[in-house]
Amino acid sequence: MGKCRLCNEEAKLQMSHIIPRSLIKDVKDGDSQLHVFSYTSAPTYSNADPKELLLCKCCEQYISSNYEQYGTQLIKRPKNIIKHNDRIEFKEFDYKKWYLYYLSIIWRASISSLQEFVDIQLGGFNDILKECIKNDTLTLTEDISIDECIVISMFRVVDRSGRLDDKAIKNIMLNLTGVKEGDDSLFFFMANGFLIQYQITPNYIFEKKNSGCNKTIVNRNARKCVKMVDITESRLLCENFNWLVDNV
Ligand SMILES: [Zn+2]
Repeated sequence: MGKCRLCNEEAKLQMSHIIPRSLIKDVKDGDSQLHVFSYTSAPTYSNADPKELLLCKCCEQYISSNYEQYGTQLIKRPKNIIKHNDRIEFKEFDYKKWYLYYLSIIWRASISSLQEFVDIQLGGFNDILKECIKNDTLTLTEDISIDECIVISMFRVVDRSGRLDDKAIKNIMLNLTGVKEGDDSLFFFMANGFLIQYQITPNYIFEKKNSGCNKTIVNRNARKCVKMVDITESRLLCENFNWLVDNV
């Protein structure tokens, strides 16, 4: 028994998967283990399925049926994907579900006490994320949305040099990793060949008041296109992929 971290009710807690089980299953592609790397520790070949007592059964099912089923299926349905030279495009795309799916992953990591997520700190955003996930909404107040303060971007990782084929890239997982960039925090996560970037701007509300800008609608529409990024375009990816090519 314990207090569920989403609904705050006293309940029998489940071993919650920090990274959705269905996603890890896809990355493993039939194997029992997979290659995992992170910015702060050496890459490993492991079972890689971090779990912790976090949520009640009801909330587990709520997250699974509202967000995870959509998020994991989206990247797997070939009929819904148009391939261009430099990007892929989803024909049908539900921005809110997509956003809250990835938000729920970083939220679980941020409230986790497991050692591998010790650097995933969202400061005052923890409870805000919880409310958005619980209430299935992006709206924080009348004139501000969560996706203005936390921008999530997705990229499709490719290796144009051909050292790693697409199947190998899909079988690699980059654990959630954080870096600071000025006042902003950046977090990265990669699975199934997709790199997810979270950019958190704590001062956004203040900046918006001063500049009056609102990029949300443009940003939301743009998310159905996923730009391809070569591993050499990212230092983080480049270093880790070099390690993999040399060692595996
Ligand atoms: Zn609950």
